Parts: sequence; structure tokens; C-alpha cells
Amino acid sequence: MSRLRDGESSGRPAIEAVALRRTYRAYAGWLTRRYTEIEAVRGVSFSVAPGELFGLLGPNGAGKTTTIKMLNTLLLPTSGTARVLGCDVAAQPMAVRGRIGYVFGGDKGLYDRLSALDNLRYFAELYGLEPRDQRARIEELLELVGLAGRERERVEGYSRGMRQRLHIARGLLHRPAVLFLDEPSIGLDPVAARDLRQMIADLKSQGVTILLTTHYMAEADELCDRIAIINQGVIQALGTPGELKARVDTGAVLEVEARGVTDEHLSVLSALPGARDVRATDADGERKLITIQAERGADLFGAVAGLLDGVDVTRFTSREPTLEDAYVGILGEAAPQGQQGVVSA
Ligand code: ATP
Repeated sequence: MSRLRDGESSGRPAIEAVALRRTYRAYAGWLTRRYTEIEAVRGVSFSVAPGELFGLLGPNGAGKTTTIKMLNTLLLPTSGTARVLGCDVAAQPMAVRGRIGYVFGGDKGLYDRLSALDNLRYFAELYGLEPRDQRARIEELLELVGLAGRERERVEGYSRGMRQRLHIARGLLHRPAVLFLDEPSIGLDPVAARDLRQMIADLKSQGVTILLTTHYMAEADELCDRIAIINQGVIQALGTPGELKARVDTGAVLEVEARGVTDEHLSVLSALPGARDVRATDADGERKLITIQAERGADLFGAVAGLLDGVDVTRFTSREPTLEDAYVGILGEAAPQGQQGVVSA
């Protein structure tokens, strides 16, 4: 693959968003037409260095896809500016489009009745790949995404993972310098998801700048150089995975898997000095998984063991806080300012 670090020599960011906002108008009613204005993105600013793998995390409806669509020229910002590889997304959309790739999870974006090969040929034409380069590039990508040998089958017979691999091949056809990956691992089985993570890491090592959205915290933790947590259209935290974990002032997390846990056990555990958050979820059958987040410096192992006397414990472990703990903690902090969904007539 060619060198892809456009913009590196000039020192400018590969992606730069400044005070981006986007409002949607959703119409309702038939006789009396009413609309709701949804402020999907409310002043988002960040920059991504060339070759960086930047994660955008956030709950459903937080504004991640809207942000990506403004950066890749599919949506015009309501206000604010964004530049990709130095080109303004609103003023120079064609210059941006030629140098970016966009991969999204789901079923859209491929022609089901065509084979993978014909899909790639079609998109290669669309992206203006030199005819003499097309064959070699398509072969290279089919190999990269693990579809070599299946490329002549119609896409309608592909599994979700195979489709996702084809999406990625399509997004890479024109050797983009910047790749937007919007939930690329959605619906993949664990092995396919691991292969995908390896593929993303390989692309990064080849110098591609990547903006990734995902709901899988472990994936973000493993891959991302930096992460922005977006909530209700604003960035609530931004930093390396390590910085985000350190920001949430928690100690170790105890996990207890046990049979015979009652509400009384849970309230006793919650009242334990040094326990800041106690949750219970159903494990399998009669077993529950209790998660106890300790305050920094608190050692609750012995105390918890004592309180679970009489309970059939199948697992009892202590672990360091994960990115998921940090994510949950950050989202639980004071909600960002502003209001979403202003109803107008
Ligand atoms: P998810 O994790 O569920 O994919 P997201 O963070 O990508 O969510 P967006 O898809 O950007 O979130 O949506 C942000 C907000 O904008 C949501 O409230 C959503 O309902 C709204 N929205 C998105 N697209 C439209 C649209 N075309 N018309 C009206 N509202 C929209």
C-alpha cells in the first residue's frame, strides 16, 4: 500500500473540527404540520494528527454518526467548520471525497445482486481508479479482508461478517489517507472482530489516519491513540485511554459471581465504607454477577468476602478499572449544558 500520511510534513492535523453544530428538523403530524428541531451536534471541536487512530465513543443518539457525516461531506454543518487534509468540507467537498474512505456497519452500501468482485469493480470505476490498476488493487484488498476465493459469489448470500469485510475493501479501494470507520465491528463474531481489529491496526501502521466509532470499549481501548466521549452532542471527555481511566477516580473493581444473592446482600454491600457503586446483573441461571467499584485506595476484598457468608460464590476477582468503567463514570458526571429537541410550530 502506498504511503498515506498526507499533511504530515506540513504539521497540520489530518482532521480538524471547530465548533461543529448540526441541527435536524424532524416533521410530525399530517393536518397540522409540526416540527421538532434536534440539536444532534452542539459545538464539537477536536483535531486528529496524521496517522493517529482517534475514537469517538458515546451512547446511542450522542451525535457520532452526524459528526462523521459532516467530516466526510455527506452532511453540511449547520455552523462551525471542519477541514480534512487541509480541505474545507463545505467549500471543497470533492477534494475531500477523493482522499477519504467511509465504512459503516449494516446492510446498506453494497449491491446485493452483484458479486463482491463486481461490487469492487463498480466502486473502483466510481472512485476513478486507473483501469490498469484495478485488477491488482482488488486482488490485494480481497486478500487483505479475507474474501479471496469467495469474490465471485453474490453478496446476497454473504454473512454479515463477509459483508463487513467487503465494506472495508470498498472503503480502501482508492487508498484513502483518512478512513472513517463507523461501528465497523457491529454484528461480527469474536474471531471476525479480532481479525478486523488486526486489520485496523495494520492500516494504522501503514500511516492511515483513522476515525473510529464503536460501542465496544475493549476494542477502543486496544486500538485508539486518543478517544473523545461524546454525549448529547458535546464532547464530555477527551484523552488517551489511560488518561480517561485515570480521570475517573476509582479504585479496584471487585466482581463476584454467586448463587443465592438477595436484595439484602446487595444493600449490605452498598453500605460498606469504601464501596461507591454496587450493581448486580443476571449471570446464567440462578447466578448473579455483582460488581463493586471501590473508592481509590479502599481494599474491600476481605470485607466483601465476610459479608457474602452463606452465599455460594463461584468466582471472586479483583481487577483494575477498565475503559468501560471510565466511560460509565464519565457519562454519569454532570450532563453537558444545553437542551435537545426544541419543539417549534
Ligand atoms: P448511534 O450510536 O445510535 O449510532 P449516534 O451517536 O451515531 O448514535 P446520530 O446518528 O448522530 O447518533 O444521531 C444524533 C441525534 O440526531 C439523534 O437524536 C438522532 O435521532 C438524530 N438524527 C440523526 N439523523 C437524523 C435525521 N436524518 N433526521 C432527524 N434526526 C436525526
